[in-house]
Amino acid sequence: MLRLFNTLTRRKEEFVPLNPPNVGFYSCGPTVYNFIHIGNLRTFMFEDILRRYLKFKGYKVKQLMNITDIDDKTIKGSIEAGVPLNEYTKQYIEAFFEDIKMLSIEPVEIYPRATEHIEDMAKLVKILLDKGYAYESEGSIYFDVAKFENYGALSGIKPESSQLQARIDHDEYEKQDVRDFALWKGPREGEPSWDTEVGPGRPGWHIECSAMSMKYLGETFDIHTGGVDNMFPHHENEIAQSTAATGKPLARYWLHSGYLLMDKAKMAKSLGNTFTLREIVKSGYSPRQIRYFMISAHYRKQLSFSLDALDQAAASLARLDEFVRNLRSATCSDSGDTRVEDAAANCEREFEEAMDDDLNISKGLGALFTFVRAANEGINEGHLSESGRKRVEGLLKRINSVIGVIELAEGDDTPDDIRELVEKRMQARERGDWAAADQIRDELKAKGIVIEDTKDGFRIKHI
Ligand SMILES: [Zn+2]
Repeated sequence: MLRLFNTLTRRKEEFVPLNPPNVGFYSCGPTVYNFIHIGNLRTFMFEDILRRYLKFKGYKVKQLMNITDIDDKTIKGSIEAGVPLNEYTKQYIEAFFEDIKMLSIEPVEIYPRATEHIEDMAKLVKILLDKGYAYESEGSIYFDVAKFENYGALSGIKPESSQLQARIDHDEYEKQDVRDFALWKGPREGEPSWDTEVGPGRPGWHIECSAMSMKYLGETFDIHTGGVDNMFPHHENEIAQSTAATGKPLARYWLHSGYLLMDKAKMAKSLGNTFTLREIVKSGYSPRQIRYFMISAHYRKQLSFSLDALDQAAASLARLDEFVRNLRSATCSDSGDTRVEDAAANCEREFEEAMDDDLNISKGLGALFTFVRAANEGINEGHLSESGRKRVEGLLKRINSVIGVIELAEGDDTPDDIRELVEKRMQARERGDWAAADQIRDELKAKGIVIEDTKDGFRIKHI
């Protein structure tokens, strides 16, 4: 039974989707005004682990991650660079996709772009105007926080009477500072503007996520995620806008990941203490090591970035790699000792139990390393059978479907009948029966498999 910590209720709850086995899942995506830093990537990594684990549990995930390609920051950037907005954001959108690919973050189902959904946003603003939750002032349209009784339910930040009727134009504002926020910003010199049913202008940042999430996932969906800094005002405002418009809750489970810290401070562009993925890779760490570092702590905990921590992650990964090599090169025997299989079964159970508990990955990885120790011992003492090896390969593959850091060399997803043929060919070669070996090679070729002999053995290639 999967339990997740729901920020909305402040406790761990059993996860029950609205329409099993389907899960509707929305993640606030990047604002493409610069290269994203690894603090942002930590959030995307947490969302990737959640997504992969939902699939591990058998759910069918439909996940959206928006691309904020219009907001205060992108507009400011494009003006400073002297290029049109779409040209300015294009390079950072490309860089974002490169970064997540490098880190083995699975692509989600839909990446809606804000600039391609302006009509949907205007429509939602119109509903809020009609229902009396929004008002116009000097060409812009604001959400009337005082009209929405439940404001603050997510973050616990409630408006004080002195803050009511005060308006704010910026997309981002300070903690505790509850204001009527801009849903729609009237045209301004040098800013892109669209003609819509609520007049000319452009959307505020918060309305973008409300409009796009509901368009693709329905008025109420299962999971909404983001970094903890999105909780207020962004997510609070998303809830206010959506619920005011539909009378329904927007998402049922709200999950937030903790900060990545740099010298004990939150890593943030505005603080100037950020690193990009590219910078760290340039200093000699592989994306796989960086991924391992970022997933190895529980997502709600703050994680401190340091080279020491990266080195530790690299060392842990090296142990996993060594284990895979040991497993693959071991000579199998049927000693009748099942300790390796037993350890694999234990590990699989413990990993799932840990992850079921609000994605307790540190405990899950702990189970994996306990297994690796026991299995290495079993292998070194000659207690690995052929079926045991298959069992362990299966275990690694299953765990890796969630953590995505173990390098399971080519051929790991080779079907059993192919694997058997490959083994038969190997045996034929060992006893010098070249004719039989060649015949099997042709048989494999007919199935689209080419065997390349190398100095360390052979390699299976799919053609
Ligand atoms: Zn958002």
